[in-house]
Amino acid sequence: MQQHADQYIGGVWQPSLGGGALEVVDPATEQVIATVPAGTTADVDAAVRAARAAARAWGASSPEQRLAALTRLRDGLAAHQQEIAETVVAELGCPIGFATGVQAALPVAVASAYLEILADYRFEEKVGNSTVYAEPAGVVAAITPWNYPLHQIVAKVVPALAAGCTVVLKPAEHTPLVARLFARLVDRAGFPAGVFNLVTGLGTVVGAALVEHPEVDLVSFTGSTAVGRAIAETAGRGIKRVALELGGKSANVVLPGADLARAVNVNVANVFANSGQTCSAWTRLLVHQEQYEEAVAIAAKAAAKYRPGDPTSPETRVGPLVSAGQRDRVRGYIRSGIEQGARLVAGGPEAPADLPTGFYVQPTVLADVTAEMTVAQEEIFGPVLSILAYRDEEHALELANGTQYGLAGGVWAADEATAVAFARRLDAGQLDINGGRFNPLAPFGGYKASGVGRELGRHGLEEFLQAKSLQF
Ligand code: NAD
Repeated sequence: MQQHADQYIGGVWQPSLGGGALEVVDPATEQVIATVPAGTTADVDAAVRAARAAARAWGASSPEQRLAALTRLRDGLAAHQQEIAETVVAELGCPIGFATGVQAALPVAVASAYLEILADYRFEEKVGNSTVYAEPAGVVAAITPWNYPLHQIVAKVVPALAAGCTVVLKPAEHTPLVARLFARLVDRAGFPAGVFNLVTGLGTVVGAALVEHPEVDLVSFTGSTAVGRAIAETAGRGIKRVALELGGKSANVVLPGADLARAVNVNVANVFANSGQTCSAWTRLLVHQEQYEEAVAIAAKAAAKYRPGDPTSPETRVGPLVSAGQRDRVRGYIRSGIEQGARLVAGGPEAPADLPTGFYVQPTVLADVTAEMTVAQEEIFGPVLSILAYRDEEHALELANGTQYGLAGGVWAADEATAVAFARRLDAGQLDINGGRFNPLAPFGGYKASGVGRELGRHGLEEFLQAKSLQF
């Protein structure tokens, strides 16, 4: 078992200023595989001071200097994809195929996209008698969750550093090992001391201390809406900027005339990817009432192919959930759906019979779900698909927009123009038209309770900039 006692602060690994440890558990074996320091407010203070001390010089560096260092970091990420994937399998329980293809590869794509944007970005422009400078926002606290642990780090840290900000990262409790690997790669890329700092620990201790720290200028947070709300309140009192990527309850709307089989099969793959732990997952499938039973049958058949199993095996498509708590929560949601009248057509709340160890949940499909059911409203964050019937387009729109969330979704129609017209009426930040592909250059973020601000693309870089205008 690896026992780590250090934090990465001011360009060196140094002992944490408290004695506590956090255990990292392999969700497939339920064994403790490592410990990392449970950081303290003193660690946070040291890290924020180091970030503040480095901020002026890094903020004044040229975009070319930042591009050179970030290119070395991207190359480091690209060269360590195997180790990254294995780490994410061990601490998240993510199947190795998905860990390699997405958890390790996506951060490389996102970092590369930011290199492209930085190379072309104009940090200075003339507006009438003014010169407007895009200056860094200052010291950034990055607080990340466990479900795409490296992607979420890269989607914050890379644009923040590209903008000229300095960063203190607080990764999720369940997945600190890939964050430590990232810190090693930052160290090797040769950034000036203090530009990037890592403090592992509890959200309520390290995360809260970062949000409250007077020397933090901007908090970039990804996680639950409940914690996001608390962070926004505290940051508001301190007049800090926030960027919040929160939960979702995204709808995939299949309009009449669309390729139903493809739309349903893609939806099933989407919702079970990463064992159902994706904030932008299409957890609600909306189908016209006349095609409803056909869609349910296709979904049930597709779901049967997703058997949970050992995440280290290349054949496995669904692994365990990240923790016992998450497993119990998801099973509770499945039970509540059945109690409230949903029809179970695949999976169920019981543990998979062949997997006595590990935090497994059966990939589940619930039919006859109606808008007022808990499973139609709340984020489950597990492999559970709810299928709802709509009467007409207006009803589909009302259902799709009828939750507190507005992160993502899909629209399928016979032609693109019809799908686009419908998508423009949805309250969500990113929508895939007839199965459109993910684009790391496009902004990602939520409407309504799904968040504030955008990550990725030019919009993601601009979250970490502030404008200064000089008049002549
Ligand atoms: P969480 O909100 O409990 O934790 C997220 C991070 O915040 C962790 O690092 C945690 O330690 C920290 N934290 C917890 N309490 C804190 C506090 N009081 N002050 C400061 N930091 C605190 O969420 P989670 O359980 O880790 O992740 C699952 C949730 O995240 C889901 O709701 C999911 O939808 C959401 N999520 C959203 C996105 C997105 O891009 N919109 C991406 C991934 C996950």
